[in-house]
Amino acid sequence: MAGEKILIADDEEHIRELCARTLSAEGYQVHCVEDGLQAVEAARREPFDLLLTDILMPGLGGLEAAQAIQEFAPDVVCVVITGHGTMDLVIEALKLGFYEFVAKPFTPDELLRAVNHALEREQLRRENVRLKALLPLFELNKAFMSTVDVSSLLQQVVDVARQAVNADHSLLVLLDYNRRKVLARAVSPASGQWDRWVTSDQFQRIVRQLMESGQQLVVQERGAWNGALTDIMSDWGIHSFILTPLSVKPDRPLGVLGVFRTTEGAAFNSGDPTLLTVLSGQAAIAIENARLFQEIQRAYQELRQLDQMKSEFINIAAHELRTPLAILMGHADLLESELTGTLQERARAIVRNAVRLRDLVADMLDLRQLEIGKMRIRPQELSVRQVIKDVVTDTISLARAKEQTIEVHGSADLRPVRADPQKLYIVLSNLLSNAIKFTPAGGHIEVRALERGEEVQISVRDTGPGIPPHLHDKIFESFYQVEESLTREHEGMGLGLSIVKGMVELWGGQVWVESEVGKGSEFFFTIPRR
Ligand code: ADP
Repeated sequence: MAGEKILIADDEEHIRELCARTLSAEGYQVHCVEDGLQAVEAARREPFDLLLTDILMPGLGGLEAAQAIQEFAPDVVCVVITGHGTMDLVIEALKLGFYEFVAKPFTPDELLRAVNHALEREQLRRENVRLKALLPLFELNKAFMSTVDVSSLLQQVVDVARQAVNADHSLLVLLDYNRRKVLARAVSPASGQWDRWVTSDQFQRIVRQLMESGQQLVVQERGAWNGALTDIMSDWGIHSFILTPLSVKPDRPLGVLGVFRTTEGAAFNSGDPTLLTVLSGQAAIAIENARLFQEIQRAYQELRQLDQMKSEFINIAAHELRTPLAILMGHADLLESELTGTLQERARAIVRNAVRLRDLVADMLDLRQLEIGKMRIRPQELSVRQVIKDVVTDTISLARAKEQTIEVHGSADLRPVRADPQKLYIVLSNLLSNAIKFTPAGGHIEVRALERGEEVQISVRDTGPGIPPHLHDKIFESFYQVEESLTREHEGMGLGLSIVKGMVELWGGQVWVESEVGKGSEFFFTIPRR
């Protein structure tokens, strides 16, 4: 334990010398004074761990000196030397929080025992305080983790800070939007009016200095502080305060956390500044996180609005295209049947492209229905094998044009399933036409359907270019296409897979892809039986 600084106050020289010799031989650093007044002055000049003092001294007595010292150095341990071991003095000293007594005459051993014992008890007390200080930090952390609302978070910070150091008031000031001045953002108790204090030039100046230097300001008594704020302190009845800067990074201060005591002689404990530093560090991170969260939320809202506008635009465009397209197709159909030769070929090209346009418009409308949750499933008992057959029949011409082969495998145990035939058709034809579209000429495509526990699993496999793993989820998003839009060689708007996903999830199934670049892709989806 040795090494601590001990202040010895006794008017008898031989006692001072005995104490000094005994204690420094043990490794303590000692400083001797002759009376109470000198003791107070010495303690003001430098901090001591222990005051060893005689009770009766000329001028200021030992008990009074100890009391005066404890006002600005509350953690100093006091041991009293008394030649008048009267009960009255012992009781008074006990009330004042003295740790030990040594009665004159005493042996060096008795003195050492008293000093060591007092220091050990103080050590234990400090450890206890430290442990207790951890509790508010835990509480605070828990609250910080769960709070993303900035104003309630700020209130929690000041409430916890005030309770943690037993202060009468606490205040949190943060830099304003322009980072020009600080504003009071939370006070505890919540009713305190701190604006006049905060807006004063002196306060703004001090806070700015603290934020720039990153240093904490601890003022233990009004008299010991001759800097700015003295007027306001007395105005507000404040006797001691601690201002702790808050910052996430040294170059980016956020503000300052202040705790204040209004009782005279009630200085803060030696552990309080450290506790407030830790607390402010945590609070700064939590405040920054909550602010970021708010910003993300705002950006997310904006994105949602944009997305909604886009989706409404698509809806309007699709609706507006439907009627002229139907008229166009009607006339083109008529022309195709009435014309011959090259003119008929041209009319056929018009019909073909009008059909493509009609499918795109249908995709746009389907997507919109899915997005606004208006799409409904109309299930009926059906044969998956039959739907696959219909889809393959309707798309085989596209595959043949690219000299591709399509193979269908339906497992023997495949039973009828309750599903929406139209939607199943759309899902399958989207996957199959993608397989045909992305697989080079001469490629091979397999469609498979099998029973898997409580669901039917259908897959479409191709020998196309494959899809890099990091895009396996992305391709199911609306308008996402792997190829750059300006250089892409395949048709489409990037809606097919998002419609597939929307529909499959609507009936409670799952959809995914397994694919490797250069080795083709296999798209899977399921239809649950329940
Ligand atoms: P579109 O086919 O209109 O581009 P989709 O939503 O159907 O839109 O597909 C999105 C993207 O996923 C495609 O642009 C393509 O990059 C990729 N993709 C889809 N199916 C396949 C496939 N079978 N092989 C390789 N890439 C595919």
